[in-house]
Amino acid sequence: MKKVVIVGAGFAGLHIFYKLRHLIGKKIDITIVDARSHSLLKPSLPEVAFEGSPISHSLIELRHTLESKGATFIEEEVASFDAKNNSLTLKNGETLNYDYIFLTLGAVKNYDAIKGFREYGYSVCDDTQAQRLWEKVKTFQGGKVVTGAAKSTWGTRVDAPPLLAPCEGPIGEIMFMFDYYLTKDKHLKRSEDYKIDVFTPGKVFFEDVGDNPRNAIGEFMQKQDMMLHNNKVLTEIGKDFIAFADGTKMECDLAIIIPPYSAPKVLRDSNLGDEKGFIPTDTQMRHLDFANVFAAGDITALAQPKLGHVAIIQGSIAAATLMKELGEDVEIPAHNLEVFCIMNMGGHEAALIASDVLYGGSKDIVSYSPISKIMKWGFDNYLYYNKGHMPPDLALEATDKLVDIL
Ligand SMILES: Cc1cc2nc3c(=O)[nH]c(=O)nc-3n(C[C@H](O)[C@H](O)[C@H](O)COP(=O)(O)OP(=O)(O)OC[C@H]3O[C@@H](n4cnc5c(N)ncnc54)[C@H](O)[C@@H]3O)c2cc1C
Repeated sequence: MKKVVIVGAGFAGLHIFYKLRHLIGKKIDITIVDARSHSLLKPSLPEVAFEGSPISHSLIELRHTLESKGATFIEEEVASFDAKNNSLTLKNGETLNYDYIFLTLGAVKNYDAIKGFREYGYSVCDDTQAQRLWEKVKTFQGGKVVTGAAKSTWGTRVDAPPLLAPCEGPIGEIMFMFDYYLTKDKHLKRSEDYKIDVFTPGKVFFEDVGDNPRNAIGEFMQKQDMMLHNNKVLTEIGKDFIAFADGTKMECDLAIIIPPYSAPKVLRDSNLGDEKGFIPTDTQMRHLDFANVFAAGDITALAQPKLGHVAIIQGSIAAATLMKELGEDVEIPAHNLEVFCIMNMGGHEAALIASDVLYGGSKDIVSYSPISKIMKWGFDNYLYYNKGHMPPDLALEATDKLVDIL
């Protein structure tokens, strides 16, 4: 029996587990390690921050979920990796050995890289920040709101688009959902009572998609009197301002940001990461230097942008690569990435975006309709009630067909 360890039970780690679990007790045993007791469904955090949804609906309990399906779950942080000796050490001092390991640790949202964030900044990227933001949103009486993503930097070992902001979708949700809340629930007047400004470190906003989604978002922003500022690299948040690397400042009563993404320290301190700590893999998700190490999701250097959809594609590939190595009759899917997300815009509104122009393709769809909202609602609920299990392939293929029709 081969010992398989999965570190990180987020989108990628759980997907790999569900793909491999039929081999438990036949060819492998699986141990999953996560520092948290519950996996966090980040795509539903904007609903926590702007609609007051309960956080419990974004959390998947891990121990019972995984152990009832034949895995061993360890709730502990990994403190160090020793890839040469096929082992890792947990924070409690215990050592785990493995034949194969999947690194699915996600990316760290580095709030502390932004001066003043802890005193004056807000975000939506984790359970603590989303709930803290909702407390602020509820009591917000109007003023200047500024939102945008900070700049992230990447290593150079693999060929992936070096996006300045690896996930700007939540910024779209922040600006539209907050605007909806302030007008419809609080009955405040746009431009008179409040103003929303948006910044991006990129030359263009949403640099991971093509002109169709970008223009559609631009039109909505214009209608809603939102001002876009390009090439703005965030450096500091103050009591009543937000400052950028080019020396400019904006007045700001409420700053809601996506911080820079970085690799967890445990990987930056190891010999597994690239210059920035992200995992360099080939397109079958195998580590470039260690043949028994696989990775998927935000922690991989190839994942650009850093999306749940990409984590799932890569998780399927990584699991299939191991299954093939174990003698299973499977095809390894191609590493064909695309941007696919549904941006909640408040109320019944949502925009579905499907684009592969970043990777040289020609798909560049945006569909704004209540059907998009129903799809998001259905997808988020499916994941929650099925404990992080993705809908069956058939349903995903039907979704692809629906997107083409839209
Ligand atoms: C606000 C927000 C909204 C989003 N909306 C969408 C969306 O609509 N659609 C979409 O496709 N994507 C969306 N994303 C992106 C998506 O959430 C991520 O791409 C996805 O979660 C990545 O999955 P992952 O498995 O790589 O990492 P994660 O989901 O971050 O999971 C990593 C896991 O590793 C664990 N871990 C980390 N370090 C250690 C350690 N040292 N020891 C043990 N365990 C550790 C963590 O506890 C965590 O459970 C959104 C992101 C945010 C922040």
